[in-house]
This record gives sequence, C-alpha cells and structure tokens, in this order.
Amino acid sequence: MSSPAPKQKKRLTVPREDIPWYPTISPDLCNGCGECRELCRPGVFQPGLVEGVGRPKMRVANPYSCVVLCTRCVAQCPSGAISLPSAEDFRHFVEIIK
Ligand code: SF4
Ligand code: SF4
Repeated sequence: MSSPAPKQKKRLTVPREDIPWYPTISPDLCNGCGECRELCRPGVFQPGLVEGVGRPKMRVANPYSCVVLCTRCVAQCPSGAISLPSAEDFRHFVEIIK
C-alpha cells in the first residue's frame, strides 16, 4: 500500500486583506440551516439578524478568515446560496513552498 502524499505547504503572495476571496450569500436563497457555519473551521459565517419569524439568515462575518481557494461550503449549502469568485483569477495569490 502506498503512503499518502505529504501535505503541501502553501503561502500567500500578498497580505490576506489584499485578496478579495471570500463567499457571498444570496439572502433570497439562504434558509438559515447553519450547515455552512458548522463546516467552516475558520469561522467565516455567523447568523444575521432575525427578520420576522424563523431562523436568521447566515452572513459572512469574517471574510478575510476564508482560506484562499477553499470551496467546501459551496457544495455543502443545500440551497445553492453560497458563491465564490473564479479560482482561476486567484491562483497566483497562493504559492507552494517546496
Ligand atoms: S448552508 Fe446555505 S442555506 Fe444553510 S445557512 Fe449556510 S448559506 Fe444559508
Ligand atoms: S470557502 Fe472554505 S474557508 Fe471559506 S468560507 Fe467556505 S468553508 Fe470557510
């Protein structure tokens, strides 16, 4: 059996705050289920204000905590409410350290 490939070390080529990579939530589609918040370890998502009756919609509370080029929450959202920019435009912000 082959051993798993070693985890690649990465670093950003500019300060994180100069990289506009973070999710956007469509408030019309979000049902407030909270799955994105549970999934995202860096804590990007927080519940927003409750509007009327029901669960609060999620909001992007800490955009610059988002891991550049991560896309996990997009597939996790059952409502298709989360979108991210095109990864192709952001690859040059991440380099692999040998
Ligand atoms: S997973 Fe999608 S629907 Fe659920 S709270 Fe997050 S954005 Fe809203
Ligand atoms: S892309 Fe990854 S790090 Fe960024 S908000 Fe989604 S799950 Fe969190």
